[in-house]
Amino acid sequence: MGNDDRAMRLLERLASEHTLELEGYRKLIESRTPALAARAAELALACRREVYGNDVFVRGLIEISNHCKNDCLYCGIRASNGALERYRLSAEQILRCCDAGYELGFRTFVMQGGEDAFFTDGFLCGIIERIKEGHPDCAVTLSLGERGFESFKRLREAGAERYLLRHETADRAHYESLHPSNMSFDNRIASLGYLRELGYQVGAGFMVGSPMQTSSTLAADLKLIERFAPEMCGIGPFIPHHETQFRDHPRGTLELTCFLLSLIRLACPDVLLPATTALATIAPDGRERGMLAGANVVMPNLSPEDVRAKYDLYDGKVSSGAEAADNLADLRDRMASIGFNIVVDRGDCRRSEWEAQR
Ligand code: SF4
Repeated sequence: MGNDDRAMRLLERLASEHTLELEGYRKLIESRTPALAARAAELALACRREVYGNDVFVRGLIEISNHCKNDCLYCGIRASNGALERYRLSAEQILRCCDAGYELGFRTFVMQGGEDAFFTDGFLCGIIERIKEGHPDCAVTLSLGERGFESFKRLREAGAERYLLRHETADRAHYESLHPSNMSFDNRIASLGYLRELGYQVGAGFMVGSPMQTSSTLAADLKLIERFAPEMCGIGPFIPHHETQFRDHPRGTLELTCFLLSLIRLACPDVLLPATTALATIAPDGRERGMLAGANVVMPNLSPEDVRAKYDLYDGKVSSGAEAADNLADLRDRMASIGFNIVVDRGDCRRSEWEAQR
């Protein structure tokens, strides 16, 4: 049997059993050809349709602060970037974003920011409670980094239902090569466990094409996703930022990102999988290509327009056009043109429905 046939058989096995050994994932990644990627996308689409039909869930992304105490080596808003103009949104600004988003049809709000001590538990709990009071039919998602068990618990008790915390890489040595020594791989992984224990819908994820990444580290990422089975998984191509040491490192590619989206869908059929802003940044049709590879979520930007450019994670990050929440009609048309339907819905993970079908 040739290499291509072996890879195709591994792919079919992943589609039917939703699991592979670590080595199987590595072989698939190394054997990627246009034909293999096309078949992966076809299987992933069928799998996504079984669980979510043609529905696309939208999330209103509110970037609440670009202050961060951390210094991740790849990140444009890292603490040591002295060239960045910093901002924080007030509670009133955040609530106004939610009100505007609600009118537009959003039923999930994602508060995202760096690790910023200004946003204490008490302050955040107050905002979460006010969002839930004003919009009881909406879900609140947080993406605010590693806050520790007690903080996660308070925020959960205040009403937050989901938490996004990309694991970044499942390989310890790789993690250590992307982060300063005061950041801990163990703490990252433990934090995902705390979130699960507290009853959040949990989001993991990683960059595609990050410095020092190999097919083995990517295989470890896929195995982690398969085993941990996060309710959400955010992956996007690595894009360099000019104020970091990786400024000259090449971007991750659309093709590999889409292939990995397909494999994640097959490993974890009920996962909420966004076609990320980074994907839309590297290709004008990146969002659509992500959808056709198995994604089912988009997260348009609902932040006030004057701060969008300051949430400068990587160079060229798009925040206008279909990436802006107020252009939802444009996004709806784009999704409809490829056979998908944006729905007004909280867009929860359909795990129990999927498990009941099996
Ligand atoms: S990746 Fe996140 S934690 Fe790291 S510096 Fe950027 S915002 Fe902070």
